[in-house]
Amino acid sequence: MEEDKKQEKNCILCGRPESRTGRMLEMGKGICICPECMQKAMDSMQASGLSYSDLMELSSRMNLPPLGGFPQNPAQTDAAATERTGAGKADEKREQAEQTDQPDESDQSEEKGGKIPGISLVNLSDFLGGMGFGPARPKVKRRKPGEEPKKIFDIHSIPAPHKIKASLDEYVVGQEHAKKVISVAVYNHYKRIAADNADDVEIEKSNMLMLGPTGCGKTYLVKTLARLLDVPLAIADATSLTEAGYIGDDIESVISRLLTAADNDVDRAEQGIVFIDEIDKIAKKRNANQRDVSGEAVQQGMLKLLEGSEIEVPVGAASKNAMVPMTTVDTKNILFICGGAFPGLEDIIKERLNKQAAIGFLADLKDKYDNDPDILTRVTVEDLRAFGMIPEFIGRLPVIFSLQALTKDMLVRILKEPRNAIVRQYQKLLALDEVELTLDDGALEAIAERALERKTGARALRAILEEFMLDIMYEIPKDDNIGSVRITREYIEHTGGPVISLRNVAPLIGNN
Ligand code: ADP
Repeated sequence: MEEDKKQEKNCILCGRPESRTGRMLEMGKGICICPECMQKAMDSMQASGLSYSDLMELSSRMNLPPLGGFPQNPAQTDAAATERTGAGKADEKREQAEQTDQPDESDQSEEKGGKIPGISLVNLSDFLGGMGFGPARPKVKRRKPGEEPKKIFDIHSIPAPHKIKASLDEYVVGQEHAKKVISVAVYNHYKRIAADNADDVEIEKSNMLMLGPTGCGKTYLVKTLARLLDVPLAIADATSLTEAGYIGDDIESVISRLLTAADNDVDRAEQGIVFIDEIDKIAKKRNANQRDVSGEAVQQGMLKLLEGSEIEVPVGAASKNAMVPMTTVDTKNILFICGGAFPGLEDIIKERLNKQAAIGFLADLKDKYDNDPDILTRVTVEDLRAFGMIPEFIGRLPVIFSLQALTKDMLVRILKEPRNAIVRQYQKLLALDEVELTLDDGALEAIAERALERKTGARALRAILEEFMLDIMYEIPKDDNIGSVRITREYIEHTGGPVISLRNVAPLIGNN
């Protein structure tokens, strides 16, 4: 015991022993640094603007392996191999970018995104993992060269469109047209992957663009679809995307997320679904004087991704970083679905339609479209161009469709019909206390009316119901005699209370 204590290493900076700090980094000559102090040192070096070459020199002085190529960890030879080539390619890319970049642009990138475009400096957890310290690196599952990719569906196992739609119907209320379009497009997409492209007719990829007001179920539709088909899904927000090298996520990080969703199985990730929300936020900025790093440039950057290209992605880390292993993911068979509310697009569509209507025989219909709630269904590629989407980008999203704004009736149905409807969830919770919960039709309507006022679609429903259920969920467990609770319109409108019945006794009217 005594001896153990004597041998324990202490951090040269904070003095704490290894038993408290976690495994030490040995610097040679008996000098040790704990991971925490090392991270602090790295952070301050980064903050002081240390360049890539300084860091290279430092790592060689510290007897650390050179950046971008760590020694192979025997436990994960595959990952380390991809890591090398990946990091090498990243370097190549950087060099190319440096050669082609305009001087003023590279200045800008230094200012915004650090010294090395697309590569952040050091994250010690990546660094320690790569050297066998800390948690093991995630292992990438890759097929061997020459091996056929494992297909998620073979041609006979892809569910037919009507079956996909029937499954969606159990969860998603209304949006009949959208569900139909998405079912057919997904079916065709997986048929395309399953079919051998031996003959010369190549089926085009059916990437989609989904338009619809906020809270109408765009994300929910895609999530449900991916869950039902059991394919990996990554969801990204276009507002956080920027051109590679600038602060924010670069577009390729989305593919890294997809790989994580596929448990690092490259074959599965390559057949997954990527949903990019708020795509309208990357419309070309009008009257922009500065470089548009989060608008048009992101659209440009997405082109190759949408069409299909081999992307180097970091494994098990959100950002590219010289220490993280890289692997290659081919986006050829990834289904991209973009969604957005496109505020202002209605006016563009109306203007076009009114202009058309003003010409010739249809002149008398001039104001016909002004109050059309589903004007978005009439969208054309020209309207999207006028909105600020570049033609090449729209061209790569051949399936364009829109979702309806939710009406009061739809909101009422969303409350009670889907398999995991909010009301059903509360009923189940109370049933565990052997209490029966019912909501009057009037109460459901009152909740829907309130939700409509908030203009956030179905998202408001849960918040409103939760507000009213709080008291009930609090009070009921107090009294074992309560047998059922009925929520009335009056309770929602604050003019009465819920109707509470005791077991085997006549109903009581609550008084709040
Ligand atoms: P957005 O269109 O902004 O992506 P979401 O898909 O995130 O909206 O919808 C928010 C929530 O509202 C979902 O989690 C879901 O529970 C509910 N919801 C929206 N539309 C529907 C619908 N048509 N059917 C059932 N639930 C819906």
